[in-house]
Amino acid sequence: MTDDEIDGFLSRQAGEIERRAEAAYQRLLESIRAGTAARSAVQDAYDSFEGEFYGLLASAFTDLLTKRISADRVRSMPLAGITLSDRLYQNRQLVESTVLAAINRHNQAMRSARELALELYDGYGNDVDLLDVRKRLPRYLRDGVTGDEYARTISRYAAKRLKTPALRAAYLEALDAAEAGRPQDKLNRMLRTAFAERNRYFANRIAQTELHRAYMDTRGGELMADQSLEFVQYRLSPTHPQVDICDVHAKADLYGLGPGIYPKGRAPQPPVHPHCRCKATPRYDIRGTPNERPDAIRELVQGRGDGARLMGSEARMERLLNGEPLDSIVNDGVPEDYRLRRLGDGPRSPLVRDD
Ligand SMILES: [Zn+2]
Repeated sequence: MTDDEIDGFLSRQAGEIERRAEAAYQRLLESIRAGTAARSAVQDAYDSFEGEFYGLLASAFTDLLTKRISADRVRSMPLAGITLSDRLYQNRQLVESTVLAAINRHNQAMRSARELALELYDGYGNDVDLLDVRKRLPRYLRDGVTGDEYARTISRYAAKRLKTPALRAAYLEALDAAEAGRPQDKLNRMLRTAFAERNRYFANRIAQTELHRAYMDTRGGELMADQSLEFVQYRLSPTHPQVDICDVHAKADLYGLGPGIYPKGRAPQPPVHPHCRCKATPRYDIRGTPNERPDAIRELVQGRGDGARLMGSEARMERLLNGEPLDSIVNDGVPEDYRLRRLGDGPRSPLVRDD
């Protein structure tokens, strides 16, 4: 795979993960609708998503590294000291408890609405729900439930003057529900965020970062082995969303050969943060003797108005300006596998390293 191909490749993996997270969410909704107990519905949906994710990553790594990587190998891959499957397990517990809490809250709300309706319409059967309450509202109140804000204000005023306290409460409740949207829609939105969005984000963060790391490890090895190459350039990805530490690596002129140009062994090795798609690319056209400029980063950060964003925070910028080396600031609290490395340090990805 080449530098031109890797971006499209990563985007396709992101699309696949998104589709599968969405499909698992639809499965979750269907089994809840079909009456499956919430806990087993969410466990089944998560199981299928997780299985697909391992399969997807295994085939992506196989394509990328042109050697067979099994789903089991992916599952046991170490990430900052813990295996990928343990990392996923932590996320899974969070997803499941959030989803179950949302379903419980919804059921609770539905129960109280139903109890209220039953109190008022005793004898209509057990399946009376909020919708039936609305259907039986007098015309002037119904307009409030189905109509706009003005209609609701009028209805609320009328409802407040009702003499029967229970009736008054029920109508006001129906108006509240109309304002808040249908309870089922609300639950679906909540589950989409807690399940589909969360799974997509978490899985994609791992996939993008680890696939790109494996790519850059392989590519970095080729560049280091190339005897005719002396310098590389740290390049921002075209999709780089906002100013961050990558801009420091790409814009500081640390060797007097131009912004982001490094003797190849000294170049920062992307990715330098989750979702980073930066690259180290060969510069055969550059020759000459590097002239180290140790203050280049401080000058860059000082000379721009957005130094805190470059460094990640005001405090980190201050540390840099007070003379602390860049590596010590960016590696602070970062697990060893994710610390800033140079191309000359060799591969980091466990799948590339363990050959
Ligand atoms: Zn980057």
